[in-house]
Amino acid sequence: MGVSQTARDIESFCADAAAIIASAPVDLLVGGKWTGATGGNRFDVADPSNGLTIASVADGAVADAIRAIDAAEASATMWRQTPSRRRSDMLMCCHQLMLDRAEWLAQLISLENGKALPDARAEVTYAAEFFRWYAEEGVRTLGDIGHAPGGANRILVQYQPIGIAVLVTPWNFPAAMATRKIAPALAAGCTCVLKPAAETPLTALAIGAILVEAGLPEGALNIVTTTAAGPVVSAMLHDNRVRKLSFTGSTAVGRILLREAANRVISCSMELGGNAPFIVFDDADLDDAVAGAMVAKMRNGGEACTAANRFYVQRGIYDAFVRRLTQEMSSLSVGPGLQATTQLGPLITATAVEKVDRLLKDAVARGARIETGGKPRPGEGFFYPPTVLADVSPDSDIAKEEIFGPVAAVTPFDTEDEAVRLANDTEYGLISYVYSSDLRRALRVAERIESGMVGVNRGLVSDPAAPFGGMKQSGLGREGGHHGLLEYLQPKYIATNW
Ligand code: NAD
Repeated sequence: MGVSQTARDIESFCADAAAIIASAPVDLLVGGKWTGATGGNRFDVADPSNGLTIASVADGAVADAIRAIDAAEASATMWRQTPSRRRSDMLMCCHQLMLDRAEWLAQLISLENGKALPDARAEVTYAAEFFRWYAEEGVRTLGDIGHAPGGANRILVQYQPIGIAVLVTPWNFPAAMATRKIAPALAAGCTCVLKPAAETPLTALAIGAILVEAGLPEGALNIVTTTAAGPVVSAMLHDNRVRKLSFTGSTAVGRILLREAANRVISCSMELGGNAPFIVFDDADLDDAVAGAMVAKMRNGGEACTAANRFYVQRGIYDAFVRRLTQEMSSLSVGPGLQATTQLGPLITATAVEKVDRLLKDAVARGARIETGGKPRPGEGFFYPPTVLADVSPDSDIAKEEIFGPVAAVTPFDTEDEAVRLANDTEYGLISYVYSSDLRRALRVAERIESGMVGVNRGLVSDPAAPFGGMKQSGLGREGGHHGLLEYLQPKYIATNW
């Protein structure tokens, strides 16, 4: 590529990016106002497909976090006393506004996160649905009334908003991980402060603007973007007014925050890392299993907590599965997320590429065979090609750590017991996938697997109406469904007689 061509490309890229970003806020949202950070600091947001800066965003400090808690406190009584129907109408309006702005939001997500536009569009629909779901659920917490079995008194149970909530979200689903917390928190009557990931602050701020447009009262949701995640979140968790932490991110950071939250015994909902096994039995429908594998592995370019991390395939179907998966993976078109033909975008950072490559090299050193891909793409951007590794040894690092990239690691097995043992041999327990035409076997295995969710003959399980969450070190609590609302409510029992 000649120099002038590169210059033209950069020029037209800047024009596209500028047009998408022009209407996105880049400041903190505190008390209903868009404001710069105390001290005026800002940080750059980069496009992972080329590393170029696309925006400069306010870099919130501890003082800004405390200002945000002040604002959440100032509106807390008003918001908890607002009739649930009014809160619900506001959330329903957000749902519609998100759909009205769907294409712009999808482009913004794709630009700052790198994911392919079809993935970004799917995320916007999924994210918007949390507003509709919790608009509907928020009016259905009427409480319970009954008699104590011994006859001594009546039991009245009221569900009260838990109080000010701190919401911390990752970069991999910058819209959906935010709305999955904001919608139930607001529906329950809690005011909150959102701290999005520094890699993808623009989407969170854009969602903030939608809430403001929908009539959100000042201070009910505040957003603090920052590069100082540790001190900022810690300061909020040590503030006496905060009652709730809802965190989505890695298990390593989750452990730190659980320790921080322990000081004041703050209620914690933790959506942490995964290491999903994808089990294919000999009697599975091969077409279905490969199609499901592509969704479970490649949705979001492999950067999903639900991503199939370990494929365990029974010996009789093993070679055919590896062959078909390799064909599908190698036919994916790789490029910048916004490019119309792209099916797989870049990873989020250079560090992510290094991690994927380290895991691949370790697996190969332990005997794995590269069927396709296997090397970072040279040149600009953080690209890793779709990769299939066969004959992966179960004690490879790739079978123990989250890959978070487009690498499918496949291992053969012989018996059902062996598959269950391999699947459960991890500290994680978020999600698993089982493919078999024998439904009795599939359900039996689903029951024995230690994970909060199981896809049976399905590569996608996420749904706002279902309780999403993990067992073991994949988390505590659930998001989505009615369960997701209960995370922001506390039951109050009143004993009385009349
Ligand atoms: P991460 O843990 O590095 O960061 C998550 C959030 O925590 C970000 O906002 C980050 O700025 C903040 N953070 C980082 N260090 C912190 C600290 N010391 N104190 C306070 N906050 C801190 O995770 P990530 O790289 O952004 O996201 C990927 C991880 O998230 C993966 O492990 C993935 O499995 C997990 N995830 C889980 C779910 C789920 O529902 N279980 C969903 C999406 C992602």
